[in-house]
Amino acid sequence: MNTPVLYIVVPCYNEETVLPLTAPMFLEKINALTAQGKISPDSRILFVNDGSRDRTWDIIEDLSRQDEHYEGIAQSRNRGHQAAVLAGLMEARTRCDITISIDCDGQDDIGAMDAMVDAYMDGCEVVYGVRSKRDTDTFFKRFTAEGFYKLLKAMGADVVFNHADYRLISSRVLKEFANFKEVNLFLRGMVPMVGFKSTSVYYERHERIAGESKYSLKKMLALAFDGITSLSVKPIRMVFFAGLLIMLLSFIGIVWAVVAAMLGHSVAGWASLACLVCFVGGVQCLFLGLIGEYIGKIYLEVKARPRYIISDRTDDMEE
Ligand code: UDP
Ligand code: MG
Repeated sequence: MNTPVLYIVVPCYNEETVLPLTAPMFLEKINALTAQGKISPDSRILFVNDGSRDRTWDIIEDLSRQDEHYEGIAQSRNRGHQAAVLAGLMEARTRCDITISIDCDGQDDIGAMDAMVDAYMDGCEVVYGVRSKRDTDTFFKRFTAEGFYKLLKAMGADVVFNHADYRLISSRVLKEFANFKEVNLFLRGMVPMVGFKSTSVYYERHERIAGESKYSLKKMLALAFDGITSLSVKPIRMVFFAGLLIMLLSFIGIVWAVVAAMLGHSVAGWASLACLVCFVGGVQCLFLGLIGEYIGKIYLEVKARPRYIISDRTDDMEE
């Protein structure tokens, strides 16, 4: 096997303070991996400027003039981290054999790339970077982030626990991934859907080298909401079961109203009204859930995700 061409994809949003510090670290890693013969000298670092309002793009342009390994693309405006990573991956896809997406703030351990490339050489097409500890995160960040993974799991979304967007993806997987046309992006949930052989590499998450987090609480909540609603229709199913439960309870209510009326514990007309209220409430919930089931199906249909993806073929079944 030839040494693979690696593209490191780095989303950057208002990162003028940290980029000059981390860019040389990425370059060092590319040079080290090249020297060890693990990757091709044609490997590159691709910065994706996500509509920064500071000097980020100027810095990227300067870097690309300094060293041929640095390259950059800029989004026309700020579209968020997920869109920036996707743009980078799609641009890199036809130019390389493997991509590694990583934040530009030095939080993800660049040293883990060696193990990622090794895993690729061992036949894995996707390698997830997983945080082994969260000691350096604030209590609030850790609490919300871990709660988020648990909620996702409870809601039926399949994600790798404590994996963010530091991962290796082969160009082969990206070719299939390009057929996922959805606009609500939640990459860490979508990548496992593509399948292929995958593994995890563990690393310790550091503190930001400089600058501040660009993920406000608002952006974090939006990501969590996107994650659940774009991966799973389980919330809709929950409405259906809530309807079923309320309907069941309403029957108990009806029995109770009838018995109370027969025993003469109520005023005239109360029992019939109570029965109606219980019944109509239950029926409405159930039907809403039923309609929801169809909406859930429509939702999955409009995404038009690939229905199958072929990973291997025997010799006489070549494309
Ligand atoms: N980022 C981006 N667009 C945004 C917000 C963030 O491209 O709208 C990038 C940011 O430059 C960084 C990565 O996404 O490389 C992760 O952001 P950050 O470190 O602020 O998030 P945190 O690590 O605090 O969750
Ligand atoms: Mg960060």
